[in-house]
Amino acid sequence: MGFKKFRAKQIFDGYRLHENKVLVTDDSGHFEALVPDNDAGDDVQGLEGIITPGLINCHCHLELSHLKNVIPPHTGLIEFLCSVVTKREASPNPSEGGAYEDPEEKKIRAIIDAEKEMYDNGIVAVGDIGNTADTALIKSQSKIRWQNFVEVLSFTDEKADENIKHFQSVAEILETQLQTSNIKPACPAGRHRTSIVPHAPYSISPKTFQLINQLTKNQVISIHNQEHPAENDLYQTGGGEYLKLFKIFGLDHSPFPVTGKTSIQSVLPYFNNGQTIFLVHNTSMAEEDIIWANEYAESAGLKLVYCLCINANLYIENKVPPIDLLMKHNCHIVIGTDSYSSNWQLSIAKEIETIHKHFPHIPLETILQWATSNGAKALQWDDELGSFEKGRESGVTLIKHNQGVSQRLT
Ligand SMILES: [Zn+2]
Repeated sequence: MGFKKFRAKQIFDGYRLHENKVLVTDDSGHFEALVPDNDAGDDVQGLEGIITPGLINCHCHLELSHLKNVIPPHTGLIEFLCSVVTKREASPNPSEGGAYEDPEEKKIRAIIDAEKEMYDNGIVAVGDIGNTADTALIKSQSKIRWQNFVEVLSFTDEKADENIKHFQSVAEILETQLQTSNIKPACPAGRHRTSIVPHAPYSISPKTFQLINQLTKNQVISIHNQEHPAENDLYQTGGGEYLKLFKIFGLDHSPFPVTGKTSIQSVLPYFNNGQTIFLVHNTSMAEEDIIWANEYAESAGLKLVYCLCINANLYIENKVPPIDLLMKHNCHIVIGTDSYSSNWQLSIAKEIETIHKHFPHIPLETILQWATSNGAKALQWDDELGSFEKGRESGVTLIKHNQGVSQRLT
């Protein structure tokens, strides 16, 4: 059996940075050993940058890839959401030759390009939100590992059963397609996973929350959390800017109960079924809410994961998430790119660079943990991904940190 050997100024093993070491993998790129430079022998490939395990993208919406450059930056969240709702159906664009491209083809082409971009830049697993099964075929041929979060939108209790049924059928299409693919991906299809998840506190009715809780016992799920202060208004007063979004869906007033509490304190108690819950964004999450959520999770047997999508936050609201507070309260932090509707690229290396730029006091080693071992653990794939340890198939990625770019080595 042959070996591959990689040397760089720094090698990150999923937990710590090492210097003067060489990474040895087997022929197919699986981790073998991290050895001192002097013991590495011949045929070592020297590289510029930081060598890391394959990167974990904990939050993406692959199906929205055709919205690249469609929604302008800094519109604010409410305007942004209205744009996604009204523009997500791909519109025909004049192609270079002047002919019109079929909107469905345009969508699929964008998904193919985005999957390839993530594969090439060294992302090995993705927590991917979808309201449709548009990505099923591409995922079935992908070498990336997918945690499909089939995202429910269901504003009223009256429609809860019907909506859940619809999204269960979407989940079924994804699962069937990923398991029956006759193309052998590097990642066996059985390792992909699919769960039904709530979109956000401002789009899920109480009964829908209850149904999702019942359907997701011990599963990994996700919810967009406190991306805008108006989310709290909805539950504290029943008013606020979200009413504008509801109008598009034909609702004149908030369909949710006024609890007098913040949104997270109003909706997290719907869950008590052993779930791991990704809280995504958290840009308007106050310290009291972080403390409360961690205590509630502990008492209810839930695991909370705080997912940062800093470039999306800058794109939409020109804000950054409360990372110092999350660290202060020992939150389990992971990183996501969000989608092309709110990002300039789908690159975890770029997210790392942006976090480092806005929070220069956080050690790079810590941010790299979020991007690798923490992400793998949150997705419950840490026995295979996220670190250089014997038996892992984590892949090997090279990050050029100062440029915010990365590339897959194995
Ligand atoms: Zn999102």
